[in-house]
Amino acid sequence: MYTIGSFAALYSVEVLSRDDDKITVRLHNFPIQYANALRRICLNGVPVLAVDVVDIVQNTSVLADEGLAHRLGLVPLITERGRLNTPETCDCGREEGCANCRVLLTLDSGSAGETTTLTTARISSDNPSVRPVSDDIPIVQLAPSQRVEVECHARLGRGTDHAKWNASNVSILTGTEEEGLVLTVESAGAMDPADILLAGMDELAGRLESFRESASAIPAQS
Ligand SMILES: [Zn+2]
Repeated sequence: MYTIGSFAALYSVEVLSRDDDKITVRLHNFPIQYANALRRICLNGVPVLAVDVVDIVQNTSVLADEGLAHRLGLVPLITERGRLNTPETCDCGREEGCANCRVLLTLDSGSAGETTTLTTARISSDNPSVRPVSDDIPIVQLAPSQRVEVECHARLGRGTDHAKWNASNVSILTGTEEEGLVLTVESAGAMDPADILLAGMDELAGRLESFRESASAIPAQS
């Protein structure tokens, strides 16, 4: 049985199964409303990376610029928990961001003499920890001499802003009181599923803390 942080005394988390894509845990003594808050946050409240801004240098493919930008936005990018800041919490405070809150990805197909499929293998990143989860994701088919050259900026975001930042699919099964609640987190690809669960708990704790701070600022009634 695994226990997580200061929840240990009252609440405990037992890992039932785990692989690269999915983790299933049993939550002991968790009220259903806590588990449901965690489910919702793991779904769309955990920050993951996605391409947010695309500068088209050249695009002679059959795909319109908007279509190309849309496809690049949907490429899952490896996100290591706690490695980058969300733009709204980064110290730089700059709209264009910095190396701690933004990643530059470049993609240049070159031009070939034959029909090729441009894939994520051609994407290079200025941050070695951030790259597409697979090199085999097709982006566009290119005819001879067609070329795509783009610069993209990726940043952390939440699924509540756009579905491209959804971290996972999450389900809860309720059992008897002894059986507890069974939570399954299936990663959308960007993050390790156990990290999503831990990041979800951090996010929930952070939101409760900021709620406590704002509630404690309510003046006492005279
Ligand atoms: Zn920054």
